[in-house]
Amino acid sequence: METVRLGRRGPLVSRFCLGLLPVSRLQSNLPYREAVRLVEEALEAGVIFFDTAELYDTYRLVREALRPPAVVATKAYAYTYEGMRTSLERALRETRRERIDIFLLHEQESRLTLAGHAEALRCLVEAREEGLVGAVGVSTHAPEVVAAAAEMEEVDVIHPLLNHRGLGLLGGSLEEMLAAVEKAARAGKGVYAMKVLGGGHLAGTPAEAAEAFAFVRGLGHVHAVAIGCRSREELLVDIALLEGREPPADVAATLAGRRRRLFIETWCDGCGRCVEVCRYGALAVEGDGDMEDGAKVRVDHQRCVLCGYCAAACPGFHIKVV
Ligand code: SF4
Ligand code: SF4
Repeated sequence: METVRLGRRGPLVSRFCLGLLPVSRLQSNLPYREAVRLVEEALEAGVIFFDTAELYDTYRLVREALRPPAVVATKAYAYTYEGMRTSLERALRETRRERIDIFLLHEQESRLTLAGHAEALRCLVEAREEGLVGAVGVSTHAPEVVAAAAEMEEVDVIHPLLNHRGLGLLGGSLEEMLAAVEKAARAGKGVYAMKVLGGGHLAGTPAEAAEAFAFVRGLGHVHAVAIGCRSREELLVDIALLEGREPPADVAATLAGRRRRLFIETWCDGCGRCVEVCRYGALAVEGDGDMEDGAKVRVDHQRCVLCGYCAAACPGFHIKVV
């Protein structure tokens, strides 16, 4: 697999980055041994770049299945210095690594959000100086955050949402995101994209998936692409498509017709916490429309990008991506 330097100060990574969100409890909650096997399959295929987050709760998987030189990126929502230090120490302790290769401010929504995380960023920059973090950066769905981070000396790596339809972008257009990504790469930032399949919406057919990968493959300013997979078949097909190869027909056939969707269990009590965390307005409490199989929350599947973050907000674990 092709490897590439992730910007001027980032590590050497594989173009394909395995995202661990889909195996986490926020999405498929894959049995642990299956998740380990999937990571081993990725390593065997030449993948050396893995993306996780404090929220995904996959540090045990990182600890037990990954050894350097496998590169690990993680991220946390903390916005204070002390909060970020706690998140960093947790990541170091639970992954049993002496250094986290890439540590990002998680899901920065706007320039204002970024400004509000200045102390957390300072913590990461100091940790980089101490050698506890390799590279520092931000993850975001917003073009304006990419544009702002491109100008920040502290930032080494940017993890933006990017797909050919602009699905899931917050507060800006696809054109604005592309311009911001180019600006970031020209400024020496490492760029690894996420949601190139729009959370699964752009992978309904093999042709759609191939189109989505062809788009991102052609972007010279994107160094690597994080793809979440839950099975060996998805992994092999997605690696082939990112590399511009025809996926093995027998493997691709096993995925035919599979679509993902958000599912709310019937025992949801309608507390509304999930509605508050959805940045896409994809959830509504009872009374706003048809109910999801008797649950008290309605899902607008056109708006939902299957990020799974609402699942983390549900105290009863009633939300799943199936
Ligand atoms: S409903 Fe909202 S938070 Fe939940 S998975 Fe869909 S987009 Fe993400
Ligand atoms: S957070 Fe859970 S229990 Fe509360 S409304 Fe959402 S799905 Fe229902």
